[in-house]
Amino acid sequence: MGSADIAIAGGGIIGLATALELAAAGQQVTVFDKDEAMSEASRAAAGMLAGNDPENPPELRDLAQLSLKLYPAFLARVEELSGAKIPIRTTCTVQGTGHLPPGARALGNTEVRELAPQVALEDWHFFLLEEQSFDAWDLAEALPPAALAAGIELREHTPVRGVRHDSGGVEVETPSGVFPAGAFLNCAGAWSPELDALPVAPRKGHMLTATLPGDQQMHCILRTPKIYIVPRGNNRYTIGSTVEPAGFDKEVHHEYIEELFHRAVELWPPLRNAHIEETWTGLRPGSEDGLPILDRTEAHRWVATGHYRNGILLGPGTGRAMSRWIQGGKPDVDLSAFRAGRFLPAIP
Ligand SMILES: Cc1cc2nc3c(=O)[nH]c(=O)nc-3n(C[C@H](O)[C@H](O)[C@H](O)COP(=O)(O)OP(=O)(O)OC[C@H]3O[C@@H](n4cnc5c(N)ncnc54)[C@H](O)[C@@H]3O)c2cc1C
Repeated sequence: MGSADIAIAGGGIIGLATALELAAAGQQVTVFDKDEAMSEASRAAAGMLAGNDPENPPELRDLAQLSLKLYPAFLARVEELSGAKIPIRTTCTVQGTGHLPPGARALGNTEVRELAPQVALEDWHFFLLEEQSFDAWDLAEALPPAALAAGIELREHTPVRGVRHDSGGVEVETPSGVFPAGAFLNCAGAWSPELDALPVAPRKGHMLTATLPGDQQMHCILRTPKIYIVPRGNNRYTIGSTVEPAGFDKEVHHEYIEELFHRAVELWPPLRNAHIEETWTGLRPGSEDGLPILDRTEAHRWVATGHYRNGILLGPGTGRAMSRWIQGGKPDVDLSAFRAGRFLPAIP
């Protein structure tokens, strides 16, 4: 069945971004996915690189900044390797918030209306963030072929069923046989607890894309703690999202779509004339405290999961930090807030 230096379970953004870093450092990498790579949460995402969203936990700051620094080179490399394009769709976010974060300058009503014409101003203080977004579907199309072009072996429709220790490495159990590797990394997202006993669960999100007739346009993301509206160009807007503990159910429930659409129209009334084009859901990997779990769990075994609402943002930074760590180096940022051991009961 072959062998590799490093075997990874999960071909989402976390598994593939880490695989690309490891391959660039000369490692032989095999990525297993139970279905197709980039077919789960990473494809469902809105694609916002929301590193400065005031709703983010402060523990994410350094990893988010590392990721934002790496993003331009990451996207350029994926584009070059795959030959596909991942255009940046927006470069600004009008953020509505209950309380302005320190240092933020509140936008005046005229400024808000210039950026988001006809926005409902009542409930929020608005401020401007320099923030980029892309269409997660563009990345989902480009990343698997980029991985193949980088020499990574991608075994789709091959779930990892278990991992055993071997002398000097691991044996990865799959339905098509046992695969020896020097090390194993669990990037199986919402399914990662099947391979390591970790408090991670699926957090379902409903999403929709709506098209607006006429020439009413908005060029910045409009986001509040209740709803976000992400312009995609050509009068298309992606709107999200719910956060639901719904197990592994991925069905679209229309009452949630209607509620999201209603909230979006409340915030940006021109959408009332929009036509809903697409609806979908995704399962975010959410840990008990909402922070990622990035750790070495045993000899030759590592985990990178629990990226919850920010896995697209945190992908390249996680890939860089985990790849350094797995190769015996020091991660680029302090990962102590993300240790798996924080969930163990304290020893009296
Ligand atoms: C609706 C929604 C909107 C979002 N919007 C944003 C956003 O705007 N910005 C942002 O930064 N983040 C966003 N996120 C969060 C982001 O999508 C996730 O945090 C991120 O995709 C997690 O990546 P992952 O690789 O860990 O998981 P996934 O993409 O789910 O990948 C895990 C992979 O593991 C595979 N797998 C599972 N079990 C096994 C096994 N046993 N063996 C082999 N393979 C296995 C799965 O098939 C899957 O392909 C959003 C998420 C959702 C759902």
